[in-house]
Amino acid sequence: MKDVDLFVIGGGSGGVRAARVAAGHGARVALAESYRLGGTCVIRGCVPKKLMVLASRFAQAFDDAAGFGWVLPAAPRFDWAELKRRVDTEVARLEAAYRRTLEDAGVELHADRALIEDPHTVRLMGSGQRFRARHILVATGATPEAGPPIPGAELAASSNEVFQWPTQPRRVVVQGAGYIALEFACLLRRLGSDVTVVLRGERVLRGFDDGLREHLQAQLEAQGVRFLACRSVASIERASEGLAAVLDDGQLLQADAVLRALGRVPHTAGLGLEAAGVALGPDGGVPVDAGGTTRVPSLHAVGDVTDRVQLTPAAIREGQAWADRVFGGIERTRLSHLGPDGLVPSAVFTTPEVGTVGLTEAQALLRHADIDIYRSDFRPIRATLAGSSERMWMKLVVQRSSGRVLGVHLVGAEAAEMIQLAGVALTLAATKPDLDATLAVHPSAAEELVTMRVPAQQHGL
Ligand code: NDP
Repeated sequence: MKDVDLFVIGGGSGGVRAARVAAGHGARVALAESYRLGGTCVIRGCVPKKLMVLASRFAQAFDDAAGFGWVLPAAPRFDWAELKRRVDTEVARLEAAYRRTLEDAGVELHADRALIEDPHTVRLMGSGQRFRARHILVATGATPEAGPPIPGAELAASSNEVFQWPTQPRRVVVQGAGYIALEFACLLRRLGSDVTVVLRGERVLRGFDDGLREHLQAQLEAQGVRFLACRSVASIERASEGLAAVLDDGQLLQADAVLRALGRVPHTAGLGLEAAGVALGPDGGVPVDAGGTTRVPSLHAVGDVTDRVQLTPAAIREGQAWADRVFGGIERTRLSHLGPDGLVPSAVFTTPEVGTVGLTEAQALLRHADIDIYRSDFRPIRATLAGSSERMWMKLVVQRSSGRVLGVHLVGAEAAEMIQLAGVALTLAATKPDLDATLAVHPSAAEELVTMRVPAQQHGL
């Protein structure tokens, strides 16, 4: 049995950061990862997805180019296999960089599955090697929610498989209307697939600002994404050509691929946590305190597996804070994303993009009576010469009495870039007068955020 100070289970964003930082504080660290280093974000999530999104945006760029005087020699052709090859190469490069970083930090790596035998013992399932660890950190992330067990569910893909599709499906049915469903629906549509989104609610992105949801859905519809609301996929069958998704209203949709994106659940099955004394949450999440420790003092967890905020930067921040606290005696890392007042800037990489931070209009009205709404809906400068129907949409949610900006919601080009900086402003407790006092950058879309003068709506007057 080998002694270590820390055994990390899972080599994704949270686990890698915690392992590296702990090793930097002088801890003897081992890490087990049964798949590929980098986790969902690097291997089959954010990074390859963003590369595919960028690929999908060229279609419009080619169309727009003519409006700016470009004469393209022939209709451009998209090569899915070539994109896949290049994305795979980039992902492999990043994976190697993660490996190097950990090795350079002195972390002992094991390509194996780990089982927690007791609060201080980990066994590797493949090699059988056992470790006695002062601390065990669970950073196993999340896995696609299987959804209701419908007939033919095994014929559907999750986001994990999309990155392995050897060819581009011509007709795609997407079930769900959250981050993953919309990002893939949009990028596949822009790459030329025929895309139908089947959603159980009336509108996409439940939980986001209602105006934003409406605007985004209309923009996606204008690109040819078809939405079938208030419906569900009842079964999936093999058809003479590809698949057929049968909806609960009897409608039959022919498809080459069915993608189900119904959320992600903590990846805790078979880890041994319960036997070690940690009762899991309803979705299998690991309950931890604000510092990332479970009710068993030597067992800890960060990232998606804790079922709090399922975003890479949250996992990284939690892994850093945890390792700094436990091995560096440092308490300084602020976890501003946690708790009822947590601020979580986030983006949905559709085209146009969504950027959001803080309270929606509906959430703000539940907390405060005096809310001013500032709204802007305009044609971005690029659309003028391009002749496209693209529109930028913005909303500020402001508490009138304090002037505090409680929420910023954006749909449009570069909304992800804008919302990062809006997140800084909200973290600094910016007020509407602060925005008004900020000089605009002209001509830009972001300048609208500091030039909206008159509320579009005043609640509680
Ligand atoms: P989301 O929670 O965003 O969306 C899940 C979708 O599935 C919703 O539309 C939901 O509908 C629907 N759904 C859930 N259960 C059922 C069911 N039984 N039948 C029909 N529809 C159902 O999850 P995703 O899988 O899209 O993504 C998981 C998480 O990963 C995100 O929440 C986000 O935190 C993270 N992520 C972040 C990205 C980013 O930052 N850009 C990109 C991708 C993922 P309803 O709304 O009605 O509940």
